[in-house]
Amino acid sequence: MEPTTNTFAPNYTSILKGMSLGLPKQSRIAVVGAGSFGGWSALYLSRAGYKVTLVDAWGPGNSRSSSGDETRVIRSTYGANEFYFCLNVRALELWKENQALWNKQLFFNSGVLWFCYQEKNPLVDDSIPFAKKYNAAYEYLSVEEIRRKHPAVNTDDLHHAWFDPHGGYLKARESCAAVGEAFIREGGKYIQAFVKPGTIGSGKMESLNLSNGDSVSADVYLFACGSWLGQLFPDSLKDVVTCTKQEAYYFGVPRQLSQSFDSMPAWIDLDGNDYYYGIAGNSHRGFKIGVDRRGEMFDPTNGDRILNPDTLARARRFIGHRFPALKDAPLVESRVCPYENSPDGNFIFRSHPEASNAWILGGGSGHGFKHGPALGELVAHSFM
Ligand SMILES: Cc1cc2nc3c(=O)[nH]c(=O)nc-3n(C[C@H](O)[C@H](O)[C@H](O)COP(=O)(O)OP(=O)(O)OC[C@H]3O[C@@H](n4cnc5c(N)ncnc54)[C@H](O)[C@@H]3O)c2cc1C
Repeated sequence: MEPTTNTFAPNYTSILKGMSLGLPKQSRIAVVGAGSFGGWSALYLSRAGYKVTLVDAWGPGNSRSSSGDETRVIRSTYGANEFYFCLNVRALELWKENQALWNKQLFFNSGVLWFCYQEKNPLVDDSIPFAKKYNAAYEYLSVEEIRRKHPAVNTDDLHHAWFDPHGGYLKARESCAAVGEAFIREGGKYIQAFVKPGTIGSGKMESLNLSNGDSVSADVYLFACGSWLGQLFPDSLKDVVTCTKQEAYYFGVPRQLSQSFDSMPAWIDLDGNDYYYGIAGNSHRGFKIGVDRRGEMFDPTNGDRILNPDTLARARRFIGHRFPALKDAPLVESRVCPYENSPDGNFIFRSHPEASNAWILGGGSGHGFKHGPALGELVAHSFM
């Protein structure tokens, strides 16, 4: 295989046709990391006929990982970026296909409500042509319609909302576990151990060194190590994948409103500053709210998962404003999760600069979870 750098083109299907490394079936592939990116990649590589070993330090969907939260939003809206729109369309198909196969609900089609402050909102507006093109149209809601359909929402500062009826939310850590189980059931090998990349000789990585003293040899290595990528490859990735501390809060809804909040769509607030978002149903864990501002730099292995009181206060103020019934809602759970930021928010899929058989997949940058199955399929296609 020649060392290659894959950059994402604007159309998902053209990538599938354009990238092919020609790795023979039955080749051995070792995947490091069983989060959304690595788990799905291992599964689709195994389904493509490769002999796959998946290794994770703390297990699929563990508490340190980005994929280890309870839930994640799935939405197609990506402004004028057709590639991510298409990737999401494909991911949604694969989420539905796999959950039917496993008889386990992982996708909840609650829809996604976008709260818009002005008439024009490029992040949503520029996706509308794709929504029409791919049969995934959105619905415009005037302020009166928002009030009628979602009486819990304070509309005082809103101009309108867009409702995406095709999106919703995914069970996150449970999905990682389900993918890991399917991978093993379908013939893959899973090892729980911390990995150190082995030596590189003649332009190739020779093996992986495991914390249990063993080593794993393969023809190709795929490192899908989320926030750890910068630490694992400091020479090439230290400043490329950086880790920040992000927080999600789950608030307890009043008992008389439990059913109505549970059936509300996931929502994203386009205030242009904090980008609050949330999942009302949230798998019965409480009304979830996240703040999409980058937090402080964070060590995903040793960092304490302790909440930042200022960010929590901000989130509290916001839900009291947007959902007045939650003004004094108690915090019932919370989660600190790392963002694995790439420099421009795009995903990274490329070979190691010194080892043509070692590949890096990551840079989910706060929006990667939902794409897991489509990315896994894309990785498998590009190795074939
Ligand atoms: C607060 C928050 C909210 C988010 N909201 C959304 C959302 O609504 N929708 C969405 O689509 N995305 C969202 N994201 C982003 C999404 O969660 C991530 O992009 C995605 O989970 C990244 O998956 P990953 O597999 O790359 O990384 P991870 O899930 O972190 O997985 C990496 C895995 O690698 C393992 N590992 C690392 N180093 C080693 C090693 N040396 N040896 C062995 N194993 C190793 C770890 O144990 C871990 O399991 C959010 C992220 C956060 C933090």
